[in-house]
Amino acid sequence: MHVVHTVAECRHIRALLRGSVGFVPTMGYLHEGHMILVRHARAENDHVAVSIFVNPAQFGPNEDFAAYPRDLNRDLAMLEREGVGFVFNPSPDVVYPKGFETYIVPGAVAEPLEGERRPGHFRGVDTVVAKLFNAVQPARAYFGEKDAQQVRVIKRMVKDLDMPLDVVVVPTVREADGLAMSSRNVYLNQRERAAAVCLINGMRLAQQRWQQGERDADTLRNIVEQTIRAEPLAILDYVSIADSESLKELHGHIEGAALISMAVRIGKTRLIDNMTLE
Ligand code: AMP
Repeated sequence: MHVVHTVAECRHIRALLRGSVGFVPTMGYLHEGHMILVRHARAENDHVAVSIFVNPAQFGPNEDFAAYPRDLNRDLAMLEREGVGFVFNPSPDVVYPKGFETYIVPGAVAEPLEGERRPGHFRGVDTVVAKLFNAVQPARAYFGEKDAQQVRVIKRMVKDLDMPLDVVVVPTVREADGLAMSSRNVYLNQRERAAAVCLINGMRLAQQRWQQGERDADTLRNIVEQTIRAEPLAILDYVSIADSESLKELHGHIEGAALISMAVRIGKTRLIDNMTLE
């Protein structure tokens, strides 16, 4: 497995590879959700590249950049076991050297939900993803539906900027009780971990009502909100029922598919999750 730290080394390794590269960008502290992306990439490409980079540009000043969990040796061992050939692990000053001043400005799909609560987040995401694509030059890049808005923002960027690759979206991997896997779950203590099932429980209740024919966006949103509010350790940030493509908030009768998404604080941990109703 080649582990490279600079853009020049990354390009050098890439130039040696014949055939297609499937690329999985991550912030490390890998779990089974990341591994599923790797397995998809391996099944569909001649080579797999993974990046591990905690991107400072996508964290706000009061967010958890410094505390974000990191364990490079463990991550590399996991990737080695999966047969990954190529890992790009730059430092912040490789990605953002002195004098760096060019950013990608995402459009309307980045504005609501996470974009509204985390100003500049998707500008940081788009910028780093574009830089990683330039360094790795993949045929396909793999992203998790776990970060539903991120997927839509990146697809938009790839289309708008004519980037020569396919974006492949992989369903969310969950723990046995339904909690979406996330590097941030390690922050949860035992009581908080138990409380965290309120996210999936709320969405499952709404899904049941949807399957019984409920199509009123406000009713469905209320069902999820009430489930979160019933959990004493949870502080609701938002619950959204939105158009599953544009992410515009829906009210009244829903035509077509909708995306339930939410952010909930449990202790110091901010969890996000989503589910498509179709
Ligand atoms: P992160 O390291 O959290 O930035 O995630 C890297 C990639 O893995 C992103 O495309 C995420 O959407 C994806 N991912 C994270 N958690 C999961 C999960 N539980 N299931 C599927 N994909 C995930």
